[in-house]
Amino acid sequence: MPANIINGKEIASAIKLAIAEELKKIKTDTGREAGLAVVLVGDDPASIVYVRNKKKACQEVGIRSSEYRLPKETSQDALLKLIASLNKNPEIHGILVQLPLPPHIQTDKIIEATNPDKDVDGFHPVNVGKLVANTASLISCTPLAIITLLDKSGIPIEGRKVVIVGRSNIVGKPAALLFLHRNATVTICHSRTKNLSDYTLRADILVAAIGKPAFVKADMIKKGAVVIDVGINRDEAGLIGDVDFPSAKEKVSYITPVPGGVGPMTIAMLMKNTLTAFKQQQIDNGII
Ligand code: NDP
Repeated sequence: MPANIINGKEIASAIKLAIAEELKKIKTDTGREAGLAVVLVGDDPASIVYVRNKKKACQEVGIRSSEYRLPKETSQDALLKLIASLNKNPEIHGILVQLPLPPHIQTDKIIEATNPDKDVDGFHPVNVGKLVANTASLISCTPLAIITLLDKSGIPIEGRKVVIVGRSNIVGKPAALLFLHRNATVTICHSRTKNLSDYTLRADILVAAIGKPAFVKADMIKKGAVVIDVGINRDEAGLIGDVDFPSAKEKVSYITPVPGGVGPMTIAMLMKNTLTAFKQQQIDNGII
């Protein structure tokens, strides 16, 4: 039986609509508007597209976005100064520094310099620690997108075998923690995993976050499994995921497409995190 295709674009649109309504109400009640600073260093073409999409989403939901576009030779000190000024700016409730940064800038130093209350990417060690303790309110957007796509599609998580291929700090590791908090049994695989198929074939829910086009073939997937494809790879035909979609979709129960799956949901989760950060800062300042 052909798979149900999880429509990330549609689910993301509904979430953005709800966020827009909530922001509108806050504005009517308090006159306050959420502000997101988007910092881009250099001219990486993929990063330019991501930043453009994030700004577009801000417009859709009614978040004021301020773009800080800096040349690729910007020094680490200059970027740290900008972060310090955004940390202090009461009109900025979320700070997003588009990664990757040029090699002469230490990414961890920039992440650590960001006020954790404004860390809408959920990358700051304080927020990562809270995620481990299951007390986080600002959680890395892509893992949050994965869980939300499953929830909105009515796919149960508790008690299921989840296999995540990829262990990056921004996708694989935080996704594993979120699944664990939802009482799944989680296995994380990576480039040194031997006999990868032994693990992937056991997965009720398989998450591919590898960065290799069409790497996961149908013969690596259990019949009836749920497959979440995080990969975004570019080839002549356009965007392609980490899963071999044409063969996999004949075998699985649910699958996310690329594009139109995890990607748009990740941006919706950025909007959600910005709303969360904005509301918390209004509460902290006694405004709401
Ligand atoms: P990273 O390159 O940081 O991590 C890739 C992971 O895949 C690593 O853990 C690596 O293992 C593992 N891996 C690589 N080759 C193999 C292999 N042959 N077998 C098993 N595991 C392997 O990538 P990210 O986590 O940042 O991103 C993953 C993909 O998701 C990319 O395509 C990226 O573009 C996409 N992405 C999409 C987003 C969205 O919004 N949809 C957001 C973020 C990322 P090891 O650790 O051993 O090197």
